[in-house]
Amino acid sequence: MILLTGGAGFIGSHLADKLVEMGERVRIIDNLSSGKLEYVNKNAEFIKGDLRNPKDVREALRGVEEVWHIAANPEVRLGEKDPKTIYENNLLATYILLEEMRKAGIERIIFTSTSTVYGEAEVIPTPEDYKTIPISIYGATKLGCEALISSYCHTFDMQAWIYRFANVIGKRSTHGVIYDFIQKLKKNPNELEILGDGNQTKSYIYISDCVEGIIYGLKADEQLNIFNLGNEDWISVKRIAEIVCEELGVSPKFKFTGGKRGWKGDVPLMLLSIEKIKKLGWKPKYSSEEAVRMATRDLIEESVL
Ligand code: NAD
Repeated sequence: MILLTGGAGFIGSHLADKLVEMGERVRIIDNLSSGKLEYVNKNAEFIKGDLRNPKDVREALRGVEEVWHIAANPEVRLGEKDPKTIYENNLLATYILLEEMRKAGIERIIFTSTSTVYGEAEVIPTPEDYKTIPISIYGATKLGCEALISSYCHTFDMQAWIYRFANVIGKRSTHGVIYDFIQKLKKNPNELEILGDGNQTKSYIYISDCVEGIIYGLKADEQLNIFNLGNEDWISVKRIAEIVCEELGVSPKFKFTGGKRGWKGDVPLMLLSIEKIKKLGWKPKYSSEEAVRMATRDLIEESVL
């Protein structure tokens, strides 16, 4: 039995679908803070529980051999207003999970981390062994999770797979730039506020590529396996705005808030080196631009349902 945390959320629900399709028994724990019950795979067990509560975690881990820890608060922008919520849902929750895993003798963990652990990297594409100096509270808590996982691996003979994602986009996503643009344009199709100067340029990966990449990464068998997962190209925020407008059939005036960052902690340029995971035979099917167009169509379709 696999315990998948955050399985009612965007990436977690797609991973649960994949694991069920592969014939795995899956149990999901999610507090539905951003996840939705309708996204939960019907063939998975579901527990509405909170990772900040050791009792919920203990119950969820019964009979489990492996944990896929996807739950987190992924809102980088929240860091400015509410560092405590990010800390508790990311770092504290991961500590509680690792402690309960250790006590239950569960030794394998798959963890979804982020490009933001690198902060403002000067080497682009950024490889896995680049220094990690996050500039957002979110990135700091995820790096803290990585450090805890690494230390638990070495102290308690656990094994881990850590994936540092670029921007993952697609069906069921409830945050991020495409989602924001669609919401704003639905309210006012004549003007689109773009955070920053629109030149922020980052790598985007479509959800099906991301799920495949994770499965490929499991072929690695070190005690601690760390992989970047993203695309080989990137796309600017301004170009994303143009694509969203094209797909919605609107021609708003763009209003830039200015500055090279969209918000405190925003990393203006991000492209990860994916050479390490490519060596295992994986590569993304869709470019950043294709992924953005497909995800825009997905989210427009979802927003009219
Ligand atoms: P999401 O918000 O859709 O999913 C997170 C899920 O975790 C939600 O279902 C939420 O209800 C649940 N959750 C949050 N706190 C919880 C808690 N304390 N107890 C139980 N459940 C809790 O976000 P997502 O985009 O699917 O992100 C999934 C993972 O991928 C996160 O770990 C995130 O840090 C990482 N990640 C995402 C991206 C991206 O572009 N989407 C990029 C890098 C890393």
